[in-house]
Amino acid sequence: MKIEIDQRSGFCFGVEKVIKIAEDILKKEGKVYCLGEIVHNQREMERLVSLGLVTIDYETYRNMKNCKVLIRAHGEPPETYKIAEKNNIQLLDGTCPIVYRLQKKVKIGYEEMKIKDGQVVIFGKEEHAEVIGLKGQTEGKAIVISHLQELDQIDFSKPVVLYSQTTRNKKKYRELGREIRKRINGVADINELIINNTICNQVANRELTIREFARNHDLVLFASGKNSSNGKMLFQVCKEENPNSRFISSESEIKKNWFDNAKSVGICGATSTPEWLMRNVADKVKSLSE
Ligand code: SF4
Repeated sequence: MKIEIDQRSGFCFGVEKVIKIAEDILKKEGKVYCLGEIVHNQREMERLVSLGLVTIDYETYRNMKNCKVLIRAHGEPPETYKIAEKNNIQLLDGTCPIVYRLQKKVKIGYEEMKIKDGQVVIFGKEEHAEVIGLKGQTEGKAIVISHLQELDQIDFSKPVVLYSQTTRNKKKYRELGREIRKRINGVADINELIINNTICNQVANRELTIREFARNHDLVLFASGKNSSNGKMLFQVCKEENPNSRFISSESEIKKNWFDNAKSVGICGATSTPEWLMRNVADKVKSLSE
């Protein structure tokens, strides 16, 4: 049986960068606090915890003083930086440069909308860490939309500037933009709608390459943490292309009968899936098919 690991799957450079920061500090100091889960992958979390990574929540963070805290790739709202300053916390800032640039853009957009009495709209999940960081750039005023059904929150008679969480689906973002344009048309000046292309290419390109990869195999094993939004999105893409796609979080979930009639198995994953996990999956497939 042919077994192939998708060479374009695995950590994006933002996740790779923050994990490297964590590993370097853990090597030197044996312990580091991280505000929130550094990566949405349970297996990688277990590895880092065994090296000394300690995940803290916001309540704990607010009460900490005189220590170091790692900021993950998703970025943080300004409030987090203010607390650090007040409590003498040294931040090891692992914010992905793409997210950082997006935060700056959202901030500028918000300042412009304040002058025009307009609205900042973010396509994303309200509770997602990146979106919390983005909304923070707008003093909490941005309207967050995750489905077309939520569009009624927008006042279409006023200017709108639209951004997307970096890991959202491009097609859905285009649909959302089209629908907003439709509703503004006739109610206000259409030029008062600005749609920014802010989906990360690391994600958008993967959508295309994973489609092709999924098509080329009889069975697709998609390895990802269950709470990775990018993982959910990319798995959906695999499913669309190849109905014989399975979502797994660990090699232990693989069942021998999945390989019935399969001549080739493709292994791929999210931007938060470590390469070593995909290799473990490949080894397991090999041992089950022998
Ligand atoms: S998906 Fe893109 S924006 Fe998000 S952390 Fe990775 S590289 Fe950065």
